[in-house]
Amino acid sequence: MIAYSSPAPVGGILHERALLEYESARILLQNGVPSTLPFMVIQYGDKYQFNGKRMGVVVNLSPERDSIRLSCIQYGKAVHRGIDAEADAYFDKIRTSLGVKGKPELETTRLQTINLLARKIGKLIHDFSAAGLYRYSSEWSNFEYDFKTEEVFLTDLDSTLQLKDIPAALRPLQVLRDLGTAVYRLVVKFGFPSVLDDYTLTNLLRFDPLTELLVGYFPNAPYDEVEAISKRLWQCFTPYWFLLKKHKEAIWTDWSRSRRQSYKMDHDLFYILTITLVFPLFKDSSLFQLYPSTLTIDDMLQKAKNYLGERYEYFLYLLNEGKMPHQQSVEKGYELTQFHKKGEGVIATKPFKKGQIVMVGKFVKISGGNHSHAAQIAKNVWAIHEGLTHKVNHSCEPNIGIHVNETGAHDFIAMKDIAKGDEIVIDYALRNYQVEHFPGECRCGSTQCRVKITGWKDLPINKKEEYYPWAATYLLELEKEASH
Ligand SMILES: [Zn+2]
Repeated sequence: MIAYSSPAPVGGILHERALLEYESARILLQNGVPSTLPFMVIQYGDKYQFNGKRMGVVVNLSPERDSIRLSCIQYGKAVHRGIDAEADAYFDKIRTSLGVKGKPELETTRLQTINLLARKIGKLIHDFSAAGLYRYSSEWSNFEYDFKTEEVFLTDLDSTLQLKDIPAALRPLQVLRDLGTAVYRLVVKFGFPSVLDDYTLTNLLRFDPLTELLVGYFPNAPYDEVEAISKRLWQCFTPYWFLLKKHKEAIWTDWSRSRRQSYKMDHDLFYILTITLVFPLFKDSSLFQLYPSTLTIDDMLQKAKNYLGERYEYFLYLLNEGKMPHQQSVEKGYELTQFHKKGEGVIATKPFKKGQIVMVGKFVKISGGNHSHAAQIAKNVWAIHEGLTHKVNHSCEPNIGIHVNETGAHDFIAMKDIAKGDEIVIDYALRNYQVEHFPGECRCGSTQCRVKITGWKDLPINKKEEYYPWAATYLLELEKEASH
């Protein structure tokens, strides 16, 4: 078939690059991945050279007469109805093809359409990687729609390369990067200057095209896991988006491109966040079998740390949905449990020898006043410790003592051997000089029970002697002070 086009100014790219694009299109065709079809490569004569290299052109075929890109629906001419008849007609045609009802001028109609396209694009990027290719610039201006097959297809393959040409260890990372690109491009374009008025957070989160894209890519992943990932990514984007929205008038009229870009989301942070969040899903996917890797999530975090530097702290904050991450020790030897009568408590899930550290103390917060979860760490200073230390119940016959560590926080040390399944208990007198928050009677059940839970100050002398090596050191200092 001979393709004619109207006369156009001479254009071209490096001949070798034209060959590359042709080859990529051929590989996609071979693998049944929708894309422009490879037709021919032309090498220009000697006269046309760039940096001493011959130039040329690649001719790929499209199933559609008009080359209209999907970007026109998300952030282009079809967003504002009545401005461009051709774009409006294209949007109508796509909606009909996808079966989307609803008034075309409504945000919700547009988002329904975007959702269906996003799911197809997710699958397409997956299939692109499965075909052995990497590096696709998955901006929606590089996707078109084939009305006959009702599929999105790839165009502009001139930067695409083959995975077989890079070391095996890098392949899964390049594959993940292509997914990261697709996710980033989709999100960031909701902040395109001309559409800052056209989307609301409520509807974006309700329709959530990001989840659709990820479901298209990971069709077998649990939906709620995908949704949870998407939620964190929106949390990363939203503050920047609202900053742009706040300045939307000025952005469109007065702002330079560089000023506009300075308000844009930190894209490497977003990429790394995406790649880290989807990594567990990726490990379960068929792509991981094609491109296996020995990388663990800890390796990914280490890479993120190296790359992001001081932004790593913010990255962790986003990763943990707005909570600062707890130190997660894999070999944690205790867990929270629910007792039949007395409520919650902590039990040992492995045995501990006398003197062993059971919980490492880490501060969450330092406070100038006492409250029921706080542990006293100095005369007028109380602290909230991370983790489960505040869930450890009191007993007048404890198996845990205190060691003040180098950060000033309380490590919990086994005062005696602890068996697996034992409740971990501490005497509050080991860390509080005075106990004011336990008005009721002690029900620890020990034969040594003092009945009233007291602080160090009110312990009988024989108990103090028994407790000396296990008590927080400042208690002894306070006692010295008091006796002067
Ligand atoms: Zn007691």
